[in-house]
Parts: sequence; structure tokens; C-alpha cells
Amino acid sequence: MPSTPANHPMRIQRLSSQLANQIAAGEVVERPASVVKELLENSLDATATQIEIDIEQGGTQLIRVRDNGTGIHKDDLVLALSRHATSKIATLDDLGRINTLGFRGEALPSISSVSRLTLISAREGESTAWRVACEGRDPNADPIPAAHPRGTTVEIRDLFFNTPARRKFLRTEKTEFGHLEEVVKRIALSHFDAGFQLRHNQRAVQSLKPAQDERGRRHRIAAVCGQPFIENAIQIDDQIAGLHLWGWVGLPTFSRSQADLQYFYVNGRVIRDKLVSHAVRQAYKDVLHHGRHPAFVLYLQVPHEQVDINVHPTKHEVRFREGRLVHDFLYRAIHNALAGITPGDTAESIRHNGIVRSEETGYLIESGTAPLPARAYTSSYSGHRQSSMPLQVREQLSTAYATLYNHARPSEQPGAQHTPQEVPPLGYAIAQLQGVYILAENRQGLVVVDMHAAHERITYERLKTTLDQGGIKSQPLLVPVSIAVNEKEATLAAEYNDVFSGLGFEIQRLGPTTLAIRDIPAVLCDADVEGLIRDVLADINTHQSSSRIRDKINEILSTMACHGSVRANRKLTIPEMNALLRDMEHTERSGQCNHGRPTWTQLSMKELDKLFMRGR
Ligand code: ADP
Ligand code: MG
Repeated sequence: MPSTPANHPMRIQRLSSQLANQIAAGEVVERPASVVKELLENSLDATATQIEIDIEQGGTQLIRVRDNGTGIHKDDLVLALSRHATSKIATLDDLGRINTLGFRGEALPSISSVSRLTLISAREGESTAWRVACEGRDPNADPIPAAHPRGTTVEIRDLFFNTPARRKFLRTEKTEFGHLEEVVKRIALSHFDAGFQLRHNQRAVQSLKPAQDERGRRHRIAAVCGQPFIENAIQIDDQIAGLHLWGWVGLPTFSRSQADLQYFYVNGRVIRDKLVSHAVRQAYKDVLHHGRHPAFVLYLQVPHEQVDINVHPTKHEVRFREGRLVHDFLYRAIHNALAGITPGDTAESIRHNGIVRSEETGYLIESGTAPLPARAYTSSYSGHRQSSMPLQVREQLSTAYATLYNHARPSEQPGAQHTPQEVPPLGYAIAQLQGVYILAENRQGLVVVDMHAAHERITYERLKTTLDQGGIKSQPLLVPVSIAVNEKEATLAAEYNDVFSGLGFEIQRLGPTTLAIRDIPAVLCDADVEGLIRDVLADINTHQSSSRIRDKINEILSTMACHGSVRANRKLTIPEMNALLRDMEHTERSGQCNHGRPTWTQLSMKELDKLFMRGR
């Protein structure tokens, strides 16, 4: 027989407000870092421009947040500490157009139910500040006068002093402070106009001045994410249909082993969202080594009616009304930004000049070109342009193209013309090293290219382009494969019919829960097509989009590209090497091979001089 707990209450009773608050605290107040998040959000909602955060012992002993915001009215001080009391919304309509970080009226009462809390506040133009305090229960005394300039200070001591179970979950001082510092960083990145001071055990840890302009913002990004990030990031600014995305995305070569440098904000709020991370992952897919994580700081502005933030008490999750639209917009904006990087671009040049290209040649035009004997190279190079690819490779490629596409090889790009002053970004080949590297001279100094890796990327990008231009050759199955799915999936298959047929599939709905696959892309003739279609439908169901078919095709193209590319130990002539360099300059994503490794590197004269201790 199931046993009943001995003290199981037989009748319903109302929870005391302290217990109700402590239960709510279970969701909102997990650790010192969550307290800091709530307090900072309150300060920012009060339009503070200076926020000081004092922490002792990882926040378990003391958390004090002092701001210069609008302050709280004396008569509201006690109310601010009681549940469901907020100045931020009043009606259901307000809930639909929230532009504050808080609105649930839960943070202060929850925090105060599990700590010793003091609240001091002064409003503009008032001569006195007022103070209330409470120790784990509702404040029972009226506010008393205190000294405080305009703004609010909230002081939290002995977090979880009355909830030992929670206290046990706290980690070391260092770990807790680490979480807390991360919260401060995240918030500082979303509110450039406020200054932040963070001190731990009386030692200054972060000091961020309000950032007024572009330079200030870059400075803050560097202070929070590190100087290398900002030096290796490109700026994005894109909008469509009311959506606005801006921020910084790290170059693929700046990838990380952890997903620890990823900041995404929706309407100024830090969020962690599956749809968003999926879109970003997809955008980087083709340029990142397996298991590496991109770095980014991105801000998405969405019309209020398009997003629901009232999904979770910590407000870390959001729900987009037009999920698919948002996903595709993010994917495209980031993907395009990454595709635009070719060897001539450094993060610096993209940032300062945008990407300036000559209409005719597609080359980067750089100003103040250094004198290099370009003319000599130019003549020897341009004459060989059409036959620049090693013969064997060309043959292999043609065969690959023919099996893959409706069309034969893509037409070659028109031969490049250099005016004598122009030196292409990757310069001119000087020699081949050990059959592996191409050495070239450009304006900055020496360029070293991994010839196989570079060629592989070029071939891969070409294969993809041809595929996009010529369509995917599909092939009928001798016996159509019928698969059983659920009704939702069958409907999705019909709804996304265009997408499937664009990729070379013909899928028919035979019944409410049966599909028949009649045609498949010729490239996928050896793949597990049924499994693939199932996974695609599952993706569409959860993410409203799927790139699995494309990924599978790309994977096959990538393998073909690898086999169709120049192997190490193949001797290349100078014109062949130059042709490869020019191809790299034209090819999207050519800074990394298909596996995400870099294809080339630059050794500047300065770096070379350093090697030889040569002062210049
Ligand atoms: P919410 O932020 O969801 O409204 P809180 O419990 O965090 O709920 O805060 C309750 C109220 O106290 C807020 O609505 C606001 O009016 C006031 N408040 C809290 N902190 C501050 C602050 N630093 N400056 C001004 N007002 C504050
Ligand atoms: Mg709040």
C-alpha cells in the first residue's frame, strides 16, 4: 500500500507570504550571481548611468549594488519588497509592450526572503533618503531617514542564511564570484551607456566607463571579451522587416574550444535560445572545424509584438512569433558576413573601410600601395590564367562536375588585369616550399599558403556554386521508398514540398501518415535517404527549418573537393601558384579550408625583422 507522509496536511491552507516568497526564490535566486542579475536589472530599469557593485566572499557574505537611478518613493519602499508589486506594468496590454528588464515584481521579495536585505533610496530633488531593512521576512517597521545621494542602494548579507539546503549548493568563493562576474559582463555588454564598477573583497575587478560612441563601445567589448576578440571580429549591421541585427562576429579562425564567448541579446535582454544558437551554428557550419565554437556579441532588435519574453521567471528564454523568419534572418546575416571574408580583408580593413572592391576585377583596392615590381609578375601571370590549374586536377574536376551537375564546368572567371601600382592582397608567388607551401611576396611582407588546403576550399566553393546555378540533378528510385511518419510530419512534408524538390527530392503524400520518396538527388544515391528525410522533418518541426539535406550534399562535395585538389608534393609553376593565389582572393571563405583550418598566413616585415632583431 502506498504510504502517506505522516504530516501530510489534510486540509488546504494558504502559504505564509515568507514561504511563498521562498518558493519563488527557488526559481529566481539560484546563487549570488542571480541576485546580482536582478539588482543590476533594477538599476538599469531606473535609468542609472553609474552602478557600483561590491562583493564579499563570492557574494555569500555581501552583495551591495549602488546606483544613481530615479530612486524609490518613501511610501513605496515597503511595497517594493512585497510580492507582485511593480512600477513597470499595470495592465495586460503593458505586458505586450515591455521595455524594462523587470516586470514580474518578484525579485526583491524573493531575495529578501532568503537573506538580510537593506534598501536605501533617494529620489531627485528630495532632501532625505529613506531606508528599510528586513531579515528573511516582511519588513515590519516604517522607513527611517538615511543619507544617500539620488539613487538606490540594495545590500544583501548572508544569502541563504535561513535556507540551509540552498546554502549547501553554493560552490567555492572563486566559482561563485566567477559566475557573478560573468553576469556583470553580460549586462555591461548590453548597456553601453551605463558605467560599471565591480569590486571583490575591496579589490577593483572591473571598471567600465559609460561608452558614448563607437570607440567607447569597441573599448568596452575589448575590456569584457578581450582585445584579441575585437581584433578578430567583423561588424554586422543588417535589417529586414522590422528586425535589426548588429554586433560583432568572430572570424572562423578565432574559434574557441568552449562556447564561452557567445553573447546574444534580444531587445537588450540576455537570452539563451535554441532557435538562435541553431541559426548561428548553421551560419558558421561551413567554416568551423568540428567541435569548435564561434565567438560573437550580437544584438537583435525585434518589434515588441513579435516576441514573448514572459516565458520563464529568469527571462532567459523568449518565444518569437515568426520563428522561421528570425532564424533565416540571423542565419543569412551571419552567413553573408562570413562569406564576404577573403584573404585581402583583415578585420581591420573590413571595419574601417567596409569591403571596397573594384567592380571589374573583384579585387580589393588598397590605398597607398607600396612599390613592388608588379609589372614583371603581371605579364607572366596573366598569360597563363586560363590554363593555370594543373592538368590532372582539371581532369579530375571535370569528371566530378559531370557526374554531379546538369551542367558541365562553370565558366572561368575573366582573367584578371593588374595595373602596375596594384599588388593583389596575397601578392605574387616566389617559390614553393617542400611541395607543401607556396611562398609569396605582398605589400606587408611574406605570405605562406598551404596549397592543398587552399585549393580544397576553392574547389569546394566552386562545386557548391555550380550546384546552386545549375540545379541539383535528381535521379528516380527504381522502387519508391515509402515511409511511415506522423500526421504533423506528413503535413510538413507537403508544406515544404518546394524546398524538397529544389534539393532534388520528390516526395508524395500517400495517406495521412505515409510518404513516398520517388526521386532523390543523384549525389545522395548511397546515403540513407529515409533516415535523412526523417531527420529533416524532425528539424523542421522543432526549428522550422532544416539544412540537413544541404549539409549532406555539402559533405559529399567536400570529400570530392578534397580528392580533386592538388596534393602535397606536386610541383607547381610560378604562374600556377599565382593563379591559385588569385583564385583564393576571389573565393568566399577561402581563409579556411573545408575543415576550418587556416589556408594562409602573413608574416609582416615587422615580424620578420623581429626574428632577426633588426631595428627599423
Ligand atoms: P520588478 O523589477 O519586476 O518590478 P522587483 O522586485 O525587482 O520587481 O522590484 C520591485 C520594484 O522596486 C520595481 O518595480 C521598482 O519600482 C522598484 N525598484 C527596485 N530596485 C530599484 C532601483 N534600483 N531603483 C529604482 N527603483 C527600484
Ligand atoms: Mg526587477
